[in-house]
Amino acid sequence: MKDPFDFDLFVIGAGSGGVRGARMAAGYGARVAVAEEARLGGTCVNVGCIPKKLLVYGAAFRKQLKLSGAYGWKTSLEGFDWSTLIQNKDKEIARLNGLYGRILDRAGVTRIRGRAVFRDAHTVEVAGKRYRARHILIAVGGRPYKPSNVRGIEHVITSDEAFALPTLPARVMVVGGGYIGVEFAGIFHGMGADVTLLHRRDRVLRGFDEDLRRALTEQLGQGGIRMRLNTTANHFEKRGHDLVAHFSDGSTQAFDQILCATGRRPYTSGLGLDAAGVTTDEKGAIEVDDYRQTSVPHIYAVGDVTDRLNLTPIALAEGMAVAATLFDNRPTKALFCNVPTAVFSQPELATVGLTEQQARKRYSNVRIYRSSFRALKLTITSLQERSMMKLVVDADSDKVLGVHVLGDSAAEMVQGFAVALQCGVTKTQLDRTIGIHPTAAEELVTMRTPVALTPTKPLRDPCG
Ligand code: NDP
Repeated sequence: MKDPFDFDLFVIGAGSGGVRGARMAAGYGARVAVAEEARLGGTCVNVGCIPKKLLVYGAAFRKQLKLSGAYGWKTSLEGFDWSTLIQNKDKEIARLNGLYGRILDRAGVTRIRGRAVFRDAHTVEVAGKRYRARHILIAVGGRPYKPSNVRGIEHVITSDEAFALPTLPARVMVVGGGYIGVEFAGIFHGMGADVTLLHRRDRVLRGFDEDLRRALTEQLGQGGIRMRLNTTANHFEKRGHDLVAHFSDGSTQAFDQILCATGRRPYTSGLGLDAAGVTTDEKGAIEVDDYRQTSVPHIYAVGDVTDRLNLTPIALAEGMAVAATLFDNRPTKALFCNVPTAVFSQPELATVGLTEQQARKRYSNVRIYRSSFRALKLTITSLQERSMMKLVVDADSDKVLGVHVLGDSAAEMVQGFAVALQCGVTKTQLDRTIGIHPTAAEELVTMRTPVALTPTKPLRDPCG
């Protein structure tokens, strides 16, 4: 009997989660197609992690150049050329786009170009052609969100456009104190723009450890970014070449560009989810269970479109879990504990495990180890930037619950400590670990004196 389906798996979206899911499924022998309307690689490759990190590297030269004088170098901060960096960044992204195509081709995945729309629960239409699939994986990601009720918001760009600006704006305001807000504030500042960071709260990065939030907020200001805290913009107005922001405190300020970094939303509108019977929440995020199965049993969703942990490595892990569940006879839940994450602000911030605030809600005997210091590299310079390291420990079990780092290479450090946390590392084991001297990271294995011990009522162990 003829198979009623063209494919065993039809993947919508060739970003991190979609490509990984497609490739793994094909590796297990499934007939797989992936549809993509834009460039291969999704947000991460095209308008996210990769170009962002390249711009962060570019911006970080400012600090190195500033420090270099104390080390005897005669250098100048003049002469940064935005277009060189953008061209080189675009070249690298084009290379990655090609690489993703070759990865899919080598895996035997059929690539289909165009926007996919559900026609029914097993049928997807792309560029006028209909495909029937036994299983469908939705991996369409998210899009930047701008508050539509703010007058003049159409003059304001998002991170998508920021990556392609033809010139570096001289006066920039970044709206939002989340990941993208602080990262782009650092990027523009590092490249020499006059940067204002507008945030509606008193400190950036809600949800991160309070000590690090406070320290980073202070250091962004001390580093030269104009911090407009506890303030919002009521409206924006175009006046000639200027873009004028009208703030909640009654003041106004003119900029060349304003970047809105007020979150991202799942990209589900127009996907025809109703025709398939796939349900979403009020923000448009696809509702999934632990296996990433949607309300329709043969349709799965991974990555930012489910609006859970919107991080590339999570989408990759989810894509692999779905492929293993469907085509390798290994039902695999996508459950994650101790997910490390980094904000590539300047200075950098990285974290794994519980914040002090989360730990105190769940454990009765939390011990905190904290160290704030000027990194050795800075000691012979005039830069006053301070690093912070913090350990959150359950004093009853001696288990390390959280590791938080603010300072150069924080992300590289925390990646290693994430392994230790995943293995259930105790404070005693950290104490027995020999440091590498002289490094900043050695501080994490040499802190001996707790800074606070306040008994509270426990709720539950977060990792079960
Ligand atoms: P975030 O959710 O991290 O931050 C949004 C910021 O905008 C918050 O400070 C929020 O304030 C503020 N905000 C939201 N709505 C409004 C509003 N109407 N008016 C004023 N301020 C507002 O979103 P991002 O856009 O920064 O990033 C999106 C996601 O992308 C991140 O959550 C992360 O998952 C991912 N990402 C990860 C990166 C990494 O791993 N390094 C880098 C970049 C993005 P409040 O705190 O008060 O809500």
